[in-house]
Amino acid sequence: MNLLIRTLCLSLLCPLPSFGETKLEGNETPPTFVDFDGPYIFSDAVGTEIQVICNNKAISYKKLKDVDTSLANKKTSELEKHCQLNDDILQHQLYNQPIKFTGDFKVAALSDLHGQYDLMLKLFKNNNIIDANGDWSFENGHMVITGDVFDRGDKVIEILWFLYKLEQQAKEQGGALHLLLGNHETMVFNADLRYLHPKYLKTAELLNVSYEQLFTVQDSVLGNWLRNKNVLIKLNNILYAHGGFHPELMTAKLSLTDINNLFKDNFIKAELDSPRDGWGRSLHKSNGPIWYRGYFKEDGASAQDIDNLLTYFDVKHIAVGHTSQKTIETRFNKKIIALDSSIKNGEYGEILFIDGDTMWRGTPEGKKIPLK
Ligand code: ZN
Repeated sequence: MNLLIRTLCLSLLCPLPSFGETKLEGNETPPTFVDFDGPYIFSDAVGTEIQVICNNKAISYKKLKDVDTSLANKKTSELEKHCQLNDDILQHQLYNQPIKFTGDFKVAALSDLHGQYDLMLKLFKNNNIIDANGDWSFENGHMVITGDVFDRGDKVIEILWFLYKLEQQAKEQGGALHLLLGNHETMVFNADLRYLHPKYLKTAELLNVSYEQLFTVQDSVLGNWLRNKNVLIKLNNILYAHGGFHPELMTAKLSLTDINNLFKDNFIKAELDSPRDGWGRSLHKSNGPIWYRGYFKEDGASAQDIDNLLTYFDVKHIAVGHTSQKTIETRFNKKIIALDSSIKNGEYGEILFIDGDTMWRGTPEGKKIPLK
């Protein structure tokens, strides 16, 4: 069964077109009307609650575990009639994903989706990550998304549910989807809402919460899924993160496991007993793995630093997003791969493919261009 609640709701309940691809510099006022947003789903031992915005109204439906299991039979509201809760959603198993994988598998990598759901689907379809039905068709391949699904664009929730489904399908077929945390995930979870599309501010207003609470409350299905994500991953001889790895991590002798654990243990400031300090603090600052831009700056990492980093982490390449380029590019004689191909603008973007020693860029039309 498919997990397309949102599509169902949208097509049956809310036929109006959604917001355009507004580009933001932060802090815009909420619009007066949201045609559709959600679902935001909360699930605990007692039951499940679904919240959606439909035609500018907040609609909530509670399904208590021992009261009723068939939403489809309810006829008391439009939501109940059309937005069937597919129980598959709640069967999704959260598991601690390892940070290192080796093996004979293809890899697809991309970054910085920033709410551009339609362009993402086009890239996935035309590069055979998914089939015509939107289901995983990358077999035992591993797909990495190096962070920043949140902010700027207006189809963030659509992307999250889609990846949530795809992760499960990939696992069932012996492949994997690795969604890494970026600075925009971290910002939203920490209530820094400056870059949210204004649509989401209106959603928060209609639901009478601060937007981050839709993810940080304990029973948020998407929130718990995202909290479980890592900040880095090593697949064969390539290391991936959103921003990158500062050379001082070597001096401090931090391992990949140390970096990932320290970052995650300090993910949400408001939940910590005491303020972030030491490396738990530094890893969330500008030289940390989600913010670092030193591979793209004149006064950043040197060629020697890059060689040392590759040796230290025992990889041949480091692939990062965060610093936008027009296409997927390389630096330092291909040792650094820049994955952020400006998908955020909603016009063009690329996926990197790796098969053994061969690397190519996949375009929205599915054209393959060798990575130089
Ligand atoms: Zn970023």
